[in-house]
Amino acid sequence: MQDELIKKATQYIASTYNRFPVVITKGEGCWLWDLNGRRYLDFLAGIAVCNLGHAHKNIIEDLTVQAGKLFHVSNLFYTEQQIKAAELLTRHSFGDRVFFCNSGAEANEGAIKLARRYSWKKYGEGRHNIIVMENSFHGRTIATLSATGQSKFKEGFAPLVDGFIYVPFNSISAIEKNMNEKTCAVMLEPIQGEGGVYVAKKEYIKALRDITQKRDVLLIFDEIQTGIGRTGKLFAYQHYDIEPDIMTLAKALGNGFPVGAIVAREEVMNAFEPGTHASTFGGNPLAASTVVATFNTMIDEGVVNNSEEMGRYLKKGLLSLKKRFSFIKEIRGMGLMVGVELTIEGDKILKDFFNEGIIINCTNGNILRLLPPLIIKREEIDLFLDVANRIFEKYEKPQEMEKRI
Ligand SMILES: *Cc1c(COP(=O)(O)O)cnc(C)c1O
Repeated sequence: MQDELIKKATQYIASTYNRFPVVITKGEGCWLWDLNGRRYLDFLAGIAVCNLGHAHKNIIEDLTVQAGKLFHVSNLFYTEQQIKAAELLTRHSFGDRVFFCNSGAEANEGAIKLARRYSWKKYGEGRHNIIVMENSFHGRTIATLSATGQSKFKEGFAPLVDGFIYVPFNSISAIEKNMNEKTCAVMLEPIQGEGGVYVAKKEYIKALRDITQKRDVLLIFDEIQTGIGRTGKLFAYQHYDIEPDIMTLAKALGNGFPVGAIVAREEVMNAFEPGTHASTFGGNPLAASTVVATFNTMIDEGVVNNSEEMGRYLKKGLLSLKKRFSFIKEIRGMGLMVGVELTIEGDKILKDFFNEGIIINCTNGNILRLLPPLIIKREEIDLFLDVANRIFEKYEKPQEMEKRI
């Protein structure tokens, strides 16, 4: 039955993804079930999306109640849910105004437009360049792909959008060298996710904030992956004692319901006037109800604290594995956004985890990316570490034998 369905999938669905060879039918907390009834521990959370786990009762309740009342009316009207969602987002962040959309790429696309428009209104033509980072990831639309600093995603899609200047991550001298009268913004992920879980240094972010502030160059944080509790704070910028001017969100914002947002300071967001930017579905009552439920649950149930604590626990366990296994090169990350860099290929190890009933991700060929739901418990992390230990042993043995020879 499962195999037949997968055959159909390859016949009818665009082959843009390498998928796990299972049809997932059900989720609960940190666990998933496939069509054959096999259970998996989810250390991916739908790529940092289901931060409250699967089938959380608060989200189900608010979404279904809202579905019974009103799906959509367009942004030509006000709706209670969207107002509540925007109020929550601004109350708990630096931002004053929110624009809702439907995905991460759409949020970044909007942020790019907003930065250009802000600068154009204040300084006129020509000040439109955005400094972005090498090894970054900002999305798959033409503009966000252009902003992305990894050539492998761009092959065959030229011509791309002009006006992006790529610099090495964590280098303040590269910023100084490349910032000029044409620069309107600097855009970066506080932790590069797709790129392999590389964390921005504190001194770097502080210096970056200083330079950008002095020149009225906007600082855009792409928190699509790092936001909503993932890194052990509600937003990753809060680790750095600074505030960006614009922040983009999506992934976990609706705990799995597709919704994105641009959050900005009032003066910045005011560069968008009626008619300058729009999204038909953006923040519709269904989407907004999931944002409200996600936010309230995060705060009421201490989920961000758990992310911080369990992140620390997971990292401690991984560091002791690193001592045992020489092919573990580095453990990186914050909260429950963790990268395990290997000196060997990660793909086979990912398959071993899958065969043992644990879902993880591998990025850039050799970096295991761990993104469990933020409600994860100690016992579930212990289970993961036990399995990891068992799998890693398979890969260490040949090396030990080589040494003996
Ligand atoms: C996932 C991601 C995006 C793209 O989001 P989509 O919803 O897939 O368009 C952009 N930036 C970062 C940092 C991401 O992790």
